[in-house]
Amino acid sequence: MRYKDNADPVITLTSGPVNAYADVLRGLSRTVLYDYDPAFQLFYENVVAKAQKAMRLSTRPVLLQGEPVMGLEAAAASLISSEDVVLNLASGVYGKGFGYWAKRYSPNLLEIETPYNESIDPQAVADMLKKHPEITVVSVCHHDTPSGTINPIDEIGAIVSAHGAYFIVDAVSSFGGMKTHPEDCKADLYVTGPNKCLGAPPGLTMMGVSDRAWARMKANPSAPRASVLSILDWEDAWSHEKPFPFTPSVAEINGLDVALDLYLNEGPEAVWARHALTAKATRAGALAMGLSLWAASEKIASPTTTSIRTPQGVDEAALRQAVRERYGVVFSSGRGETLGKLTRVGHMGPTAQPIYAVAALTALGGALNAMGQKLAVGRGIDAALAVIDADA
Ligand SMILES: *Cc1c(COP(=O)(O)O)cnc(C)c1O
Repeated sequence: MRYKDNADPVITLTSGPVNAYADVLRGLSRTVLYDYDPAFQLFYENVVAKAQKAMRLSTRPVLLQGEPVMGLEAAAASLISSEDVVLNLASGVYGKGFGYWAKRYSPNLLEIETPYNESIDPQAVADMLKKHPEITVVSVCHHDTPSGTINPIDEIGAIVSAHGAYFIVDAVSSFGGMKTHPEDCKADLYVTGPNKCLGAPPGLTMMGVSDRAWARMKANPSAPRASVLSILDWEDAWSHEKPFPFTPSVAEINGLDVALDLYLNEGPEAVWARHALTAKATRAGALAMGLSLWAASEKIASPTTTSIRTPQGVDEAALRQAVRERYGVVFSSGRGETLGKLTRVGHMGPTAQPIYAVAALTALGGALNAMGQKLAVGRGIDAALAVIDADA
């Protein structure tokens, strides 16, 4: 065994958490200021302003001091009350999971569920809203990461908005890696974070909150207050003149500041383009060497994660173990329903570089062939290079 379990791998190509940019790591090492020091309060206000710019919001986003799963739970707890009728859209493990939270706050849950290699059809949402005018909240996951598939949230959002319902979007693993912004999809609560495509560590939530979502949460008597799940407590925390409800994660804010600078300075369009190109090269290479994609069509395959279907007779966990032992490369498995059925190659933040498509395909193809498959690895590499070089 060349690469042992107790040593860091050579290349981490997962779908989050991902490697942090070197500059972000340096940012994390800034000193830990006292949260009531005016320098920190002004710095925090500035980080929120950068997040607002990156998210292209006309209102101030909220930073919550916990991993985006906490932000999603906070969204459900704050916006959904027992009178609401929620339509949850589930095309994968995260989308389905949000429904369980929604159910905790309202017994009235409707769902559209697709097979986990497909995406939500906006027409089905329109039909459901027509049939159930009583629906008040719609929730969706943009990029259902354990499937590597994308839902058309801008189209769905337009339909939800016309109906008048509140729209909750999980864009944790798409924001920063492709063109998606809260107002593009008319989201009322749009949850994302630094630990996927922005290339920073897990530990914060960035949330877009519409004006009407603020009003709705304030009118909801069961919306959490004085709680880590509270969004309302953080409404004014962006201002250097207002106190924090509790101590923010100072080091994570330091890291986020650098991650946002990197994103804005490189230019969002350029960042999205290298995510898209890396994914396209990975897909082309996988297909050319004889593998299949998990996504039912390439149109819905994510630019930030490529899910490759596990070949018949291959143990997926053993495959990832072989990839790590032989080449020092780490991929993500599926989760829940997709566990064991696919392997995920992440293209997020610093790993959204086309050369990593070549590394991923080599490691995956090499390990599969060592396990007895007969893949044309060289053909896959040629196909990936053709995609990359056509773009040069
Ligand atoms: C990563 C991710 C989250 C955050 O959840 P963790 O599993 O705790 O990292 C939420 N939603 C989606 C779609 C994600 O990919």
